[in-house]
Amino acid sequence: MSIAENLTEISSSLPQGVTLVAVSKTKPASDIQEAYDWGQRVFGENKIQEMASKYEELPKDIEWHMIGHVQTNKIKYMAPFVDMVHGCDRFKVLRELNKEAQKNHRVISCLLQVQIAKEETKFGFSKEEVIDFANSEEAQSLNNLKISGLMGMATFTDDQDQIQSEFTALQEIYKEVVDMGVFPDFSTLSMGMSGDYELAISCGSNMVRIGSSLFGARNYK
Ligand SMILES: *Cc1c(COP(=O)(O)O)cnc(C)c1O
Repeated sequence: MSIAENLTEISSSLPQGVTLVAVSKTKPASDIQEAYDWGQRVFGENKIQEMASKYEELPKDIEWHMIGHVQTNKIKYMAPFVDMVHGCDRFKVLRELNKEAQKNHRVISCLLQVQIAKEETKFGFSKEEVIDFANSEEAQSLNNLKISGLMGMATFTDDQDQIQSEFTALQEIYKEVVDMGVFPDFSTLSMGMSGDYELAISCGSNMVRIGSSLFGARNYK
């Protein structure tokens, strides 16, 4: 199937209110252009420099989402154009992103990444850190960030019950922060990838990040 056919199939399967982030990491700009021509506008990348070079090359009304682990010394390369950063997984990233957004006279949407997987290799805040941050004065002082929601990745496993319990745990933290009422734009729950997005949606996700089901398997040489 072509990229356009995959987009038609997947986007028609998503309930209303669920945003599709087309994860184009490692894929050539021509693949993104094909998805763009179909009508897709939101793309996700996990390497800042790769995203920046694609931004240069491609139409300027694309909404770029950084979904990967952020190296703070590279934030300056994306601050001029990135729309949403899903991988805010430590305070240093939030502070540096706020500083660079300010330099560019921009407001950047951020998702707090929460560690829900039982894997040491995954990044993210604990539930307690998220709640403490939401209660902090610092959270309100980051004037060039819009704290827009949470992002999480489930454990890489076939155990559907485990994935479901991790997604449900994230949804509960999300609801708790919504109920605190401290962030006016807090309305995004980013969870679900090619293999688990339907389950994620059933657990309340309203933003799915789908790569291989749209663009085909990635080839990391
Ligand atoms: C690569 C990646 C995805 C997409 O994964 P697929 O399984 O190809 O859909 C989603 N989220 C993050 C954070 C990723 O790094």
